[in-house]
Amino acid sequence: MDSLVEDYLNDILDRVRDEDDGAVADYIPELAKADATPLALAMCTNQGWIYSVGDDEREFTMQSISKPFAYAAALQDCGVEKVIETVGMEPSGEAFNELSLDGKTHRPVNPMINAGAIAVNQLINGEDSSVDDRVEVIVDYFSRLAGRQLTVDENVTESETGTADRNLALAHMLRSYDVIVDSAEDAVASYTRQCAIRVTVKDLAVMGATLALGGVQPLTGERILEPLVCRQVQAVMASAGMYDGAGKWMASVGIPAKSGVAGGLMGTLPGQLGIATFSPRLDESGNSVRGAKIFRALSEDMGLHLMSAVTRKGSSVRGIRTRGRTTVFRLQGGLDFSGAEEFLTAAENQDITTPRVIIDARRVTESNPVGRRMVKEGLRRIRENGKKVAVVDPNNVLGKRRFEDGTRVATTAAEIDEQ
Ligand code: GLU
Repeated sequence: MDSLVEDYLNDILDRVRDEDDGAVADYIPELAKADATPLALAMCTNQGWIYSVGDDEREFTMQSISKPFAYAAALQDCGVEKVIETVGMEPSGEAFNELSLDGKTHRPVNPMINAGAIAVNQLINGEDSSVDDRVEVIVDYFSRLAGRQLTVDENVTESETGTADRNLALAHMLRSYDVIVDSAEDAVASYTRQCAIRVTVKDLAVMGATLALGGVQPLTGERILEPLVCRQVQAVMASAGMYDGAGKWMASVGIPAKSGVAGGLMGTLPGQLGIATFSPRLDESGNSVRGAKIFRALSEDMGLHLMSAVTRKGSSVRGIRTRGRTTVFRLQGGLDFSGAEEFLTAAENQDITTPRVIIDARRVTESNPVGRRMVKEGLRRIRENGKKVAVVDPNNVLGKRRFEDGTRVATTAAEIDEQ
């Protein structure tokens, strides 16, 4: 069966493909030269399945998307107490490179603006660390989160270092208030290299999924971060991840997210998914225009808004039974995107040898539109592969008795025999 999820993701890319609003970041010369056309989307589920479409092998620099992961590394190594003594956790509502600290404490207000991110970078590997050692620790952390060895883009680093006056000003300010001890030059060198770590959307989706899953990397099974660290990072990302647009983003899209000026955008759905997009043209706040549109579409069409989640506990596939000529998928609980995705994965992995396939939905307690649509479309594709299919759905949790192509969904033995 073709991947239904990837078909959905491709549909979403097609919808935004021709949009050319916004402009590539030009304050870093190397980014100004970037090709504006790539478009990619990836998702990593709680089972470690990666769905990706578009230019999903294309590498780009993380830029500000490195901030939540560096924050996670600092929290993990120094403890929450120590980190929040150094950097606050209130949304600033300001631009990412604003020259501001909290008026009373003189601390950066949160780790998602540059002042906070420079201070967080300095906490990693201790304040006496050399720049090279600190960067090595960060690259190692990020590589474990991604499940492959990542590298620093030295061209982007050099290019940004030549135009880093504003970040240098921030570092001097942080030093003047004893928030950091390193020289401003070294602090900015270390932070700039952190921003220049290269990733693909697939890497970011896996890294995001690790946060969403409480710190266990879904591909390697390694526990990298404590659940409390992941909670803290996602909470701060939810309130401050999208700079001055953070409040509106959370209300309308509802996916904690972080954008970077190279065009990446990474989001997490706690307990469910890591999501990432790449498209280099940015709006005035520095967020990827097509990336933000893709997130909006995912949130609306696939019901991924955090505040509208359908309650689910455990797997949505209660069991798969083969009896005589029939294979029965018994579903349970709430059927949202993730629940439906679990069914599709189970169906794909099941070697169906019987001529009939039935979905037993009697134990499904609730569903949302994308959950209903995906389960029925999955069943329709099984029918296309030559099986007779039906649903047992007395409570009508799967909605209308029609497939997407308009044909009837069989619910009785007589109907199944007509196929
Ligand atoms: N390295 C960039 C800077 O500090 C990151 C900014 C961003 O991605 O928003 O200016």
